[in-house]
Amino acid sequence: MKNKPSNNHKIISWGQIVGWLVVFAVAILLFNKPGEKETTLDYSAFKQKVAASEVADLTVAPGVISGMYKNDKGQFAPFKTVRMEDPNLVAELSAAKVNYKAQQDRSWVGNILFNVLWIVLLIGLWWFIFIRPQRSDGKSAMNFARSKAKMQDPSKQTVTFKDVAGCEEAKEELEDVIKFLKNPKKFQKLGGKLPKGVLLYGAPGTGKTLLAKAVAGEAGVAFFSASASEFVEMFVGVGAARVRDLFEQAKKNSPAIIFIDELDAVGRRRFAGIGGGHDEREQTLNQLLIELDGFESKQGIILMASTNRPDVLDPALIRPGRFDRHISVPAPDLKGREEILKVHAKKVKLAPEVDLKTVAKGTPGFVGADLANVINEAAILAARADKEAVMPGDLDEAVERVLAGPQKKSRIISKHEQHVIAAHEVGHTVVARLTNHSDPVHKVTIIPRGQALGYTLQLPLEDKFLTSKSELLDKLCILLAGRAAEEIVFGEITSGASDDLNKTMAYARKMVVELGMSEKLGPIALPNGDDGEVFLGRDLSRHKTYSEELARTIDEEILNLIRTSYARAKEIITSHRVAFDKLVETLLQKEVVEANEIDEILGLKPVQPSVAEPEKPVESEPIVPQETPKATKPEAKQQAELFD
Ligand code: ADP
Ligand code: ZN
Repeated sequence: MKNKPSNNHKIISWGQIVGWLVVFAVAILLFNKPGEKETTLDYSAFKQKVAASEVADLTVAPGVISGMYKNDKGQFAPFKTVRMEDPNLVAELSAAKVNYKAQQDRSWVGNILFNVLWIVLLIGLWWFIFIRPQRSDGKSAMNFARSKAKMQDPSKQTVTFKDVAGCEEAKEELEDVIKFLKNPKKFQKLGGKLPKGVLLYGAPGTGKTLLAKAVAGEAGVAFFSASASEFVEMFVGVGAARVRDLFEQAKKNSPAIIFIDELDAVGRRRFAGIGGGHDEREQTLNQLLIELDGFESKQGIILMASTNRPDVLDPALIRPGRFDRHISVPAPDLKGREEILKVHAKKVKLAPEVDLKTVAKGTPGFVGADLANVINEAAILAARADKEAVMPGDLDEAVERVLAGPQKKSRIISKHEQHVIAAHEVGHTVVARLTNHSDPVHKVTIIPRGQALGYTLQLPLEDKFLTSKSELLDKLCILLAGRAAEEIVFGEITSGASDDLNKTMAYARKMVVELGMSEKLGPIALPNGDDGEVFLGRDLSRHKTYSEELARTIDEEILNLIRTSYARAKEIITSHRVAFDKLVETLLQKEVVEANEIDEILGLKPVQPSVAEPEKPVESEPIVPQETPKATKPEAKQQAELFD
């Protein structure tokens, strides 16, 4: 199957349908040709006309007699009559000197012809809709069992390692695979252990698909890609058939790479969940395991797959001899981000004053796909403004677009609501700026963007791999500060804080149940479920791993964290009320206030990245990795933070 442009795939055009309908209509008209209007005579009337010699040109068929008769006006007109058993008819006709001829049953022959034509036409139509498209490019509505995998020709393989930036370790680990694909025999002779299945894992958009493509490009082999979710179809058995088909195609084109995206869609642990497994998914997974065992790497095929949930995969899939190489594709660090930006910036024209390092600094937590998006958005913005090249301002705007969606300047907001939004945002800003363990505030705005009515943007100074309890406590406080400010200024609270409250709850729960940061409970972590959610005592399907008592304490501790943080947020705002009001005023006037002006209004020195002030711990604080280590290594999680 070739990877043709997709517009060839349409099954049948409207023009063709209309054409065939016209053919049908004409055929029906031809066969039902009404001819001249003929009168139907009773047989007795017909006999009278015969006796009177008032008929001519008769055609005598087995069931019907037709011809011309003399009507009341004395003119000859066509007629027909139903023939009756009448042995004397011929004698009478001869006696009356009427000219006549006999005919086989015309309508009988006509009927057969007519029916045959219908069948032919139907077959023709069916051929047009289902068979023809399949012949032309292998796609068809009937083609359930064929894999939808796309193949890329090695000759057109343009992606190489040069196009993948910022994941040097993953590339290094993939060198083996390339060496093997380039020359399987030589690799074997040297005693190299043949790789068979490679699992790439990491967050979405980190470049796993791109890496797999680049491996094919570097080795110059065919690349088959399919998304595992395509295998899970409505009909049981279809997925398994598609897997079989995919492997067959790859074998025909070896050496080749088969890449399966989102492996977890079929590869989740079997027998998980209430009410048994998912039949179709299980069959597909079994077929995949069969194929994995059935092919020898000698055949020059490497299976690659990607997932962001390696921890939920069926253990059978990652056993030795199957997907036994696991390669982490982490979110890029500062240097990685700069390199990815450089790769994508090659496709656009940048103004000389653009410094991609600055952009990289301002985009912690962004993955490759986000960064590609930033460059693309910036280029679009520059083009829209008829600029010669992309300016630093375009990149800043693009980063915010990727973070929060496009600005919605046209949204009309009443004066009072603007005041509420400004107070809410300044609440976040003031608390974020005045707590010791939070990231620097970049700006605050009340220009709506995406879903947000306004937001405070914080950017960390550097990539971080650990998050301390103090930092998380400050984060809770910042999240709640919007609501706190509303209450302090207006004595009334609004729905605007709902997202903040959800996040607060999620963070507080994580601190207590996953990170062991509750004082009462100490360093405990409760087991995680498949979906990443912590099982609580209420989960009926599993036996409880902890007591009602513990469950109650957990709830208490979560509430406790939230209440204390809310009180602290209110306290910070009230004790800086003058500066707070001034900042609200400024924000209402300017709509955007940047870091230096915020500092000025709050009477603070600007944050200097180089002279990082030594943090004075408020209380003895354990340093705990933010992620409970699962199959994944802890990754850089710190990212640009929006409080809306
Ligand atoms: P994943 O498969 O991990 O979800 P993709 O490989 O589909 O991510 O990445 C989507 C796009 O993001 C790529 O096509 C590429 O443009 C960009 N991208 C992602 N990671 C990188 C990277 N490391 N270097 C360059 N571009 C990247
Ligand atoms: Zn908020």
